[in-house]
Amino acid sequence: MDKLQSEASRRHFIGGLGAAIGTLGLTAPALCAKQVAADAPTDAEGKAIPEKTISNPYIYKFSIGKFEAWSISDGYGTFTKGVSRKMRPPADRPEMSKALTALGERPDDMTLYVNILLLRKDKEVILVDAGFGPHQRTTWGWLADAMDSIGIAFADVTHAMLSHSHIDHIGGLASGGKILFPNAAVHVLREELDFWRAKEPDFSKSHRTDDIPGMIRNVRNSFDTLQPNLVIHKDGDQILDGAMTIISAPGHTDGHAIFRIASEGETLLHISDLSHNHVLMFENPSWFIDFDHHPQVAIATRNKVFAEIAATRERIYGFHLPWPGLGVVIPKDAKHANGRRGYQWVAAAHRWDF
Ligand SMILES: [Zn+2]
Repeated sequence: MDKLQSEASRRHFIGGLGAAIGTLGLTAPALCAKQVAADAPTDAEGKAIPEKTISNPYIYKFSIGKFEAWSISDGYGTFTKGVSRKMRPPADRPEMSKALTALGERPDDMTLYVNILLLRKDKEVILVDAGFGPHQRTTWGWLADAMDSIGIAFADVTHAMLSHSHIDHIGGLASGGKILFPNAAVHVLREELDFWRAKEPDFSKSHRTDDIPGMIRNVRNSFDTLQPNLVIHKDGDQILDGAMTIISAPGHTDGHAIFRIASEGETLLHISDLSHNHVLMFENPSWFIDFDHHPQVAIATRNKVFAEIAATRERIYGFHLPWPGLGVVIPKDAKHANGRRGYQWVAAAHRWDF
């Protein structure tokens, strides 16, 4: 019987937690402060982060035609200052708070979910992004425990799709100079690789305030480690006999990709980081988060894709939407001052009949 929520074995991971958290600009909630050693890693605000004491993967099984599919939570992060901290434009923040409140959500903090899609068909095992990785603890890095629970080993993974290279997506692919999925082809868009390997990656349009040189260094190191396994793609490329299409969706990063999985007449569109919240980016697709490298391009991409999926009602999976991240996007009647239509995320009903 499949488990919705699994209490898996306790693991104690060590490593560059403080740097990784700083890279994303998130804070971890304070837990069991008395357990924190004097030399414990610290978060972006200098607060000590306790050793991993909670292992709590969430695993939701479903299917796409002949593919078995699991939505795995790799954990979550919380922006403790809510919409005022990371969402733009600043002048619209009161309106953002109103939109959240109207749907019963708190405007004073904002949770960022981290959902990893795992697929299996015959001998092919496909991971779509890899989460923060085993160097994380407490609120992130739950993928390994979840895969243990499912009974799929890292060595069983034949394909790893990389939507883009921020730490919450690439962090789990390599650790300590070693690729963690040794038998996996790692699929990435050419534009993503070119961006990070450019002499000076262009962050001039981004509102990121974190350690950009450190992030560039980490991503380049990851790509150096992954190099023997990399398969470089262009927009529209397909793998798995056409069952997986890699679609360019730029703006969040240059080579940000979304993925369509199709089998036996069923599809799922994985929208990666087109939305970091289940209310805000749908309410007004022109609202954006500081993590976007090129916000205006990200907004244009979001408007284009949302218009399509709101018309087709295709089943959607979101990396940062509330776990398990499955649902549809519907149009809202009202148009915004910029003429753009708003949308609404509607989560799918849970099913446990597999
Ligand atoms: Zn992300």
